Amino acid sequence: VFSNVPLAPPDAILNLSTLYKADESTQKVDLGVGAYRDNEGKPWVLPVVRKAEEIIFQNRPEHEYLPIGGLASFTSSAATLLLGKDNVAFKENRVVSFQTISGTGANYLGARFLAKFKPQDTLVLLSQPTWANHQNIFNTAGFTTQNYRYYDPSTLGLDLQGMLQSLGDAPNGSIVVLHACAHNPTGVDPTQDQWQQIADVMQAKGHFPFFDCAYQGFASGDLDRDAFAIRYFVQRGFECSVAQSFAKNLGLYGERVGCYHVITKTEQSANHVRSQVARTSRAIISNPPLYGARVASTVLNTPELMAEWRDNLKFMAGRIITMRDELRQRLVQLGTPGNWDHIVNQIGMFSFTGLSPTQVEAIKTKHHIYMTSNGRISMAGLSTHNIDHVARAIDDVVRN
Ligand code: PMP
Repeated sequence: VFSNVPLAPPDAILNLSTLYKADESTQKVDLGVGAYRDNEGKPWVLPVVRKAEEIIFQNRPEHEYLPIGGLASFTSSAATLLLGKDNVAFKENRVVSFQTISGTGANYLGARFLAKFKPQDTLVLLSQPTWANHQNIFNTAGFTTQNYRYYDPSTLGLDLQGMLQSLGDAPNGSIVVLHACAHNPTGVDPTQDQWQQIADVMQAKGHFPFFDCAYQGFASGDLDRDAFAIRYFVQRGFECSVAQSFAKNLGLYGERVGCYHVITKTEQSANHVRSQVARTSRAIISNPPLYGARVASTVLNTPELMAEWRDNLKFMAGRIITMRDELRQRLVQLGTPGNWDHIVNQIGMFSFTGLSPTQVEAIKTKHHIYMTSNGRISMAGLSTHNIDHVARAIDDVVRN
């Protein structure tokens, strides 16, 4: 039965973490990990999450099934967090929200739903580069994917003209996957003015925006600022989708807390879409998991916990921003060839260093520092204990 199943290529990130674990050097540094670490390199449970858990356990909750759409107090407050409480789309009953298996499940539910109702030859456009799983998810749902230009290696920033041109050249009515903030893997986001130009082209072409929002609040430390692009598109009257994850911003990685939202033009479309997304989600998971949604709902619906969450977010984003400044400062002090401003200009969990695959290999074998072969580093892997070692190692591989 299985004799014609070929071996799939290894997952680059998982492979990296195996190599890191096997390395016996005391100097080793893991800059591949896509999860927040404290200054001691340890996972960090947000204090606000601990408080929410205590409240939940005091109430001795039962463990019944959730409805297909999920925990309503969670999905509605998650939508409010994205769109802002006064968004006219709520007053007009044009927002559809489903609880999902974190951001991955939200992308997949959206992809499967759209695959049923978009014309068969609809293309899905992904940024070049993008999160490694996007192509896998949209192909698995049956879509053909194509890249749009996004990152310019010569400036280590956004290739805006290239992006506008790719979107303009694509067939009308394509689905365009946009990172709402903290683009993974580059850390390069459009400015507010650039978002406006992107929206102009997308409107002219009738493209459908599919936002992937995995880092709201984690990017800048400000939940509202990080939702700018989504709110802007909705305000301009676009119908769109949002895949929302609470893995990073609440540190609920393994609990798989997320939502898939659709914002439609009319209440009637919202009702129809809701009925169809429910069928699709029923086929994939039947009912979403309770625990993480309870934690998130308790935080989102308790004003004191909301305030504390904002502080926790500022703390995580602040440590990462400090690490960006410190790394850049050290490279400038060492006189490392090249300009390192991009490290502080990029945003979120990741930075695209500009190191070549050969330099990435050298920094691993010579200095025991692990990063993906495209030169992406997780800023959360840096700490006051390892930053000198990392800066000197970058300096060494850039010079040699
Ligand atoms: N989208 C992007 C862009 C991401 O970086 C991630 C996390 N690596 C996800 C979605 C989904 O993560 P999760 O399924 O853990 O929420």
